[in-house]
Amino acid sequence: MKNSVASVAQSIVDWQLSHGRQHLPWQHTKDPYRIWLSEIMLQQTQVATVLGYYERFLARFPTVSDLGMAEQDEVMPYWAGLGYYARARNLHKCAQILHQDYGGQFPRSSAELATLPGIGPSTAAAIAAFAYGERAPIMDGNVKRVFCRYFGVYGLTHLRATEKKLWELAHQVLKAAPATLNMSAYTQGQMDLGAQVCTRGQPNCSACPLQTGCYALEHGVQTELPTPKPRTKQAERHCEMLIWQQDQQVLVEQRPDSGIWGGLLTLPQFESKAELQRFMQNQGLHLTEANKMAGMTHVFSHFKLHIQPWWVQSPAQLKEPTVSQQWVHLDQIDQSALPAPVLKLLEGIKNQASLF
Ligand code: SF4
Repeated sequence: MKNSVASVAQSIVDWQLSHGRQHLPWQHTKDPYRIWLSEIMLQQTQVATVLGYYERFLARFPTVSDLGMAEQDEVMPYWAGLGYYARARNLHKCAQILHQDYGGQFPRSSAELATLPGIGPSTAAAIAAFAYGERAPIMDGNVKRVFCRYFGVYGLTHLRATEKKLWELAHQVLKAAPATLNMSAYTQGQMDLGAQVCTRGQPNCSACPLQTGCYALEHGVQTELPTPKPRTKQAERHCEMLIWQQDQQVLVEQRPDSGIWGGLLTLPQFESKAELQRFMQNQGLHLTEANKMAGMTHVFSHFKLHIQPWWVQSPAQLKEPTVSQQWVHLDQIDQSALPAPVLKLLEGIKNQASLF
């Protein structure tokens, strides 16, 4: 491999300062709480989506202790719609530990940060680099892509051997960088380069600060690196969802903490129409094809969920309610911890209700 590690970090810093993103709300702060929150929200989520959530979350929980003292039920509405809800549960658990055991202060090293729930080595390094200037390398999806292409690293990036190689290169790059390296710009620059130039589909090599010495560019193999995952057919699941409306309220249930939509409120969900029919009969309600609404599909990272909604308007009393069931007013749905497809369904109901 004839690529040089010597100039990589400084080239990225110079590019970041002139071409990278400068005005994101979590930049130009040394507050580890704000940095940590942005890093967790940005995992598997685009910047444009995160922006509104970030501001709303901070307005409600301005410090890590505010978050640590809150109940999980108070936190989930501020995450609803962002997806990957284990992140929110870990974020809350981590804030509780920081509030109770660390006096509301973050540890000052990436090694100690990485011992906290939901903070992996790359996130810990990003927090420590932005907040304290620690010379710690990151290795998120964007950086993996840039490094695989620049250094010509083949192999599936989630495999231990490939990851190990990439981390070694990341350490070598930092070791070879000048002592005065701007760690904040370097860390941000790696993220920006992956998001703006060395993108998944068609990297814009002519605008890249690493074009000299890039293995993928030299060999014309940009689309072969990182090594693509073998295509597997996405699993498909089906469910029936019940929208039981009483006046301006609908019945919702809180999901268990684990599993999809863990800790969120969703509509009563059934694996089959027969199971839904049984529930309805137990409630003394009758379901016909007139109650059937247009189906919808929601795509999760590892499967597709086909949802068949049913809409029933009845003032009947809920028999044998469980502790997880509650009625939510249609005016409150956008402040409730509802996942995106459920919110979309209920907004449709609310709009129809307002017509009458
Ligand atoms: S030259 Fe092209 S492939 Fe290489 S790192 Fe830059 S954008 Fe990626």
